[in-house]
Parts: sequence; structure tokens; C-alpha cells
Amino acid sequence: MHYRKFSTYLRQTYGEKVYKIPISLDGTCPNRDGTVGVGGCTICSEGGIGFELHHAAKPIAEQLRLNKNHILNKYRASKYIIYFQNYTTTYRDTVEIVDLITQVDGEDVVEIALSARPDTLSDELLATLAAYPKKIVLEMGVQLFNDKLLTEINRGHDVAPVLDAFERINHYGLTTCVHLILNLPGATMDDTLQAVAILNRYGIERVKLHSLYIPKGSAIAQQYLAGELEMIGPMDYYDRLEEFIKRAHPDMIIERLFARAPETDSLFCNWDRSWRFLQNEFERRLEDKQIYQGEMYQA
Ligand code: SF4
Repeated sequence: MHYRKFSTYLRQTYGEKVYKIPISLDGTCPNRDGTVGVGGCTICSEGGIGFELHHAAKPIAEQLRLNKNHILNKYRASKYIIYFQNYTTTYRDTVEIVDLITQVDGEDVVEIALSARPDTLSDELLATLAAYPKKIVLEMGVQLFNDKLLTEINRGHDVAPVLDAFERINHYGLTTCVHLILNLPGATMDDTLQAVAILNRYGIERVKLHSLYIPKGSAIAQQYLAGELEMIGPMDYYDRLEEFIKRAHPDMIIERLFARAPETDSLFCNWDRSWRFLQNEFERRLEDKQIYQGEMYQA
């Protein structure tokens, strides 16, 4: 295996294939409601980040039932990860978050994932989540560790609170899945190398590498249409993935290499190819070049 795939990890850990069920909540985030910013990140669409949502207007129990039935009928699934995906799930009172978790938890649920921003993770919340008797994963959109680029996408925080959050999450023994966009406009290979070094340093368990997608109606869509964005091609993106994988800790779980956004919702995604096509092509490249995760890892 050239890199540590999430599907492999799940099979090894839970003994069978595990399916993710997205749950959609009404909500917002501090970068949209004026607490730290308005309008949100330039890469954010009106519904918040998260495209795999179904039955958004329905109560949680109904969403759970519909999504489970759909997956059960299609795949005969029996184990699930519940993912509260859109906006910032952790931007709520601790009591409310625990209530959400308990509403979806069950014997067939192996993990619960919560979308998170570093500025919404109080010690009280982290301690409470750590005490919960099931694995909780904080899905944190970091994008890159570059203050200038974070300002350009109107992230509403710089790198410092991300690192502080990593330290505190580690202190409480919780799991982080960091989301990165290695081809954010203006980013270079140095940003990729810096990102993997930081993830290694903090012992981050999981990463989702998203290629840039441009949601219709977003602020970045206007920049894209005006020709203002510095975009790289797929081969340059492959180069960045390769260098990331070579340097990643051998145990780091790589959940994703490319964005998965529906064509109808985006102006640009994956250079007009499917993520499966790109993943297959990239994996052949790893095989041809005999590249393995961690071969250049440095403690
Ligand atoms: S933090 Fe997430 S939900 Fe909030 S504006 Fe940025 S991408 Fe959207």
C-alpha cells in the first residue's frame, strides 16, 4: 500500500466496511454571524462546507433513518460514522452538542465526527467530548498554515489558534482530521512541505486533502470568473500530493486526496475530471515511481 487509506484503517479497526452518514443542521459559524467575521471564508458556499448532505430540512432522526436505509439497501452496511458536516457544528453550547451526539449514537455507530473551527473549541467542550464513551473526531478546516493565504480567503483566524487547538485537543486525547487545500490560489510547494511537517509535529491522526473547488455563488467564484486566481494544473497538484505522502508519518490516515463536489454546484472542481479518475491516475503514478508514505518522514 503506497499510502494509509481510510478505508483500510476502518476495515482493520472495525472488522468490516464502515459507511459515513452525513447529518445536516441549521447553523452558522463565527466567521459568518459577525462574531469574528461576516460573509464567511471566500471558499464557502451558502450551505456551508459539505456537499454530501441529504434531507437537509428534516429532523435528525428522520435524516438518520433515510440515510441509513439508503446505505443499508445499497451496501448491506452494518457500521456507521455519523458526520455532522455543514457549517461549524462545535459552534454551540456543550450541552447542545452532547444532545446532538446522543441523538445519533447507537450500537451500529463506531465514530461521531463534528465539523469544527479552532476558535470554537473550549476546554469545557474538549473535556466533555473526551469523556464521551465513543470515538469523537474533530473535522477541522485548516486549509494551509500560511497567515497571508488565510487572510486572503477571509478565514477569520490565523495559524496561531490552529496550533493552540492542536495542543489542547492532544491534551484531551481527542482525534483530529485536518482538512487541507494544497492548491489554494497563491500556495506553493513550500506550503505543502510546511503543512505536512506541522501535522507530523502534532501527531495528527487523519488528514483530508481537498483539491480546490469553487462553489457557485461564493466569493471565490467571483474572483475565479474575473480571472484573478492563480490556479495550478493537475500535474503540479500531483507533485504536491507526492511530497506530502513521502513526508507524512507512516501512521497518518489519509482520508481523501481530491475534492468531491457535484458538478452542478461548482464552477471549478478537479480540472473537469472525476475524483475517481484522478485518484486512479495518481495511484498508478505512485506505483510507477515506487513512492511510499513516510519514506522521507523526519521526527
Ligand atoms: S469556517 Fe467553514 S462554515 Fe465557516 S465560513 Fe469558513 S468554510 Fe464556511
